[in-house]
Amino acid sequence: MKIKRILLFWVALYFPGLASATSSQGLILISLDGFARHYLDRYPAPALQQLIAEGTVAEAMQPVFPSKTFPNHYSIVTGLYPAKHGIVENNIYDSGFDAIFRLSLREEVANPRWWLGEPIWVTAEKQGKTAATFFYPGSEAAIRGIRPSKWQVYDGDVSNTERVQGILKWLDLPAAQRPKFLTLYFSTVDDAGHAFGPDAPQTAAAVAEVDRQIALLVEGLKQRQLYGKIDVMIVSDHGMAAVTPQNTIPLDQLFDTKQAALVLWTPEIVSIFPKPGKLDSIYRQLQQQLPAHAKVYKKAELPARWYYQDSNRIAPLIVVPEAGWRLMQQKRQQQWLAEHSAGQISGSHGYDNQHPTMQAIFIGQGPSFAAGRTIPAFANIQLYNLMCRILGITPATNDGDPAWVGQMLEPKTPVDTAE
Ligand code: AMP
Ligand code: ZN
Ligand code: ZN
Repeated sequence: MKIKRILLFWVALYFPGLASATSSQGLILISLDGFARHYLDRYPAPALQQLIAEGTVAEAMQPVFPSKTFPNHYSIVTGLYPAKHGIVENNIYDSGFDAIFRLSLREEVANPRWWLGEPIWVTAEKQGKTAATFFYPGSEAAIRGIRPSKWQVYDGDVSNTERVQGILKWLDLPAAQRPKFLTLYFSTVDDAGHAFGPDAPQTAAAVAEVDRQIALLVEGLKQRQLYGKIDVMIVSDHGMAAVTPQNTIPLDQLFDTKQAALVLWTPEIVSIFPKPGKLDSIYRQLQQQLPAHAKVYKKAELPARWYYQDSNRIAPLIVVPEAGWRLMQQKRQQQWLAEHSAGQISGSHGYDNQHPTMQAIFIGQGPSFAAGRTIPAFANIQLYNLMCRILGITPATNDGDPAWVGQMLEPKTPVDTAE
């Protein structure tokens, strides 16, 4: 094993193309929604650990702000910050076409007007590489007129095993028709994290469940002689923080909501669009009234490291709680308190993308990835360039650093030093 690795290192040094990108038969991108980085260290997941041993793992993958599902999934496949790719939150208002986007509004989710930039499946299809998605945010819209050759309308009731079998069926197509880029998506871990909190046995069980699905996929790849020949990337969109019902701020009691034209409510980020002339008034009220656990920002004051400014879809006023706190309308808060016992922990995400609980995972295994390697934490906007390199396609303009990909795929030190 050691000799093989040393050999691989010298091959990689003299013929970088051979040991990385060009030998791959394709790429499967697997998203484990809400799989916090710390779960990997805490919960048994033998199939994931096997892939880590045979591949490359990141100390952490940093989500974009806000650490929510749709903004992050779309940053992963476009390499763009949300201000540029347009999916600035799970709920969005666009003043240009005066409409609201929500995950539950099927016709909006499928409407390409929301989805800016170029997702990897569009880049791939345009360059003659077939893409197939078994669920992925954005794949239901004809972005730039293009959908993946194979895609599915999102249906949370489709079992995880059916999803894995769906992917394997596509891989059974004759080589010429076999998709080169595939996605697989599981929400099980996010669902459990929300309902029971990151530390609960139910969340450990959800990790075990998705791990079994990964094991099924690996088994299927082995049967098809694709294992080790096709690249597999396992990522998550964000982590999960524990929250108690008491850590709730009744935000609508802290400012005159009649001064707002529109408020988009989520517990972890509230977007306020003030009526004309009311911005400063609402801002002042919130500055005076908000407890220390939440902060109001004018758009121009948002931390530069969030890259969360340059879009008409980002509200003029944003309220963000610290990790572990929730913002609610009082009515909703009362309902929430009635439904939950005093100390009952649940889970939330959407907070500052630098917070340790919000960190995501990255595992890469296959011909493009060095074995037994741990790489430092990186931002998920780097993945688009990486995936383009693996697929041998030219990336569209994006926020990632192409130099990062070189570093990541071509180890500067012998690959066996990780032992
Ligand atoms: P969040 O509210 O950020 O926790 O979002 C997680 C939820 O997003 C999942 O539980 C799914 O119900 C939903 N979801 C994931 N993918 C899609 C999709 N492609 N279309 C619609 N909803 C989705
Ligand atoms: Zn999510
Ligand atoms: Zn979630």
